[in-house]
Amino acid sequence: QPRSFLDSNFLEDESTKIFARKVADHYSARTNQTLEEREASPIIHLKKLNNWIKSVLIQLYARRGDAVLDLACGKGGDLIKWDKAKIGYYVGIDIAEGSIEDCRTRYNGDADHHQRRKKFTFPARLICGDCYEVQLDKALADDAPFDICSCQFALHYSWSTEARARRALANVSALLRPGGTFIGTMPDANVIIKKLREANGSIFSLLKAYSLEIVSTGFDEEFLEKKFKSSSPFGIKYKFHLEDAADCPEWIVPFHVFKSLVEEYDMELIFVKNSHEFVHEYMKRPEYVELMRRLGALGDGNQYQSTLSQDEWEVAYLYLSFVLRKRGQPDRT
Ligand code: SAM
Repeated sequence: QPRSFLDSNFLEDESTKIFARKVADHYSARTNQTLEEREASPIIHLKKLNNWIKSVLIQLYARRGDAVLDLACGKGGDLIKWDKAKIGYYVGIDIAEGSIEDCRTRYNGDADHHQRRKKFTFPARLICGDCYEVQLDKALADDAPFDICSCQFALHYSWSTEARARRALANVSALLRPGGTFIGTMPDANVIIKKLREANGSIFSLLKAYSLEIVSTGFDEEFLEKKFKSSSPFGIKYKFHLEDAADCPEWIVPFHVFKSLVEEYDMELIFVKNSHEFVHEYMKRPEYVELMRRLGALGDGNQYQSTLSQDEWEVAYLYLSFVLRKRGQPDRT
């Protein structure tokens, strides 16, 4: 092999690791907020809307007694949602040591934060690890199979290389039971690219007040077109900065590629909805209107858009939710 080939492979590996570390360090450094700090966040309504979307997904697909795998579980912000669904077992994994520590504190119920409450009713295992690098079916052989896998606001971090994107999906597929469900939320590549195009390809700053910036790292129309049609549409990096939320590298997930890749891993798409469409659809159901109200994301007269600022509503537009099902018939036991 020519030396340069080996060198570039090595460099790609190293830089991928550096970026994964950057993401981990960024989330690790974000400490748990008190109730007061949380309510003072400039994007509090957006956070509440995102919690509503995750709650709806969980209520739609979780069943009493389910074994749940929460990939990139963060600080365990969804523990209460799973508890309400009366799940039977929970495994949470995250690359950020600090977040897993916070998750453990929250699970043990001894944290001084807004989710101070009674103990959770389900047993849980919390692990620090890279879900897009490690072969999880070996590590979790005693815990599998799972009825549901959830990956909220995090799957796009696997799209830095094809190997990592494949590892993520291979892990989910290997750990889900036949007929099991994979739910997730991630940036909507079509919207991000549309916004970058409108901003002439270099940077778009959506929320000046909340300083949301998305910067393409040197990709233009021609590059995107080539990448999207190429055999390897991975590693399309942009920088994402949103005050009080994230400040790290992220990767575009072209949805058509995602859809065909999941099929290679024995999963089929049940639905995909941009957050706007998701809200419009599920706000037709009184139980979810009530849930929105309880979460504090609803103003007078059932108008979620009157509570959310126009800017926050625009940020919500950057995300989509998906539901996949692992092929095969569930065991009749
Ligand atoms: N899922 C949580 C939620 O919805 O509250 C956290 C979402 S947060 C925006 C993204 C999370 O992805 C962070 O906790 C980060 O540490 C985690 N993450 C990023 N890359 C990861 C990887 N390779 N393996 C495991 N976790 C990862």
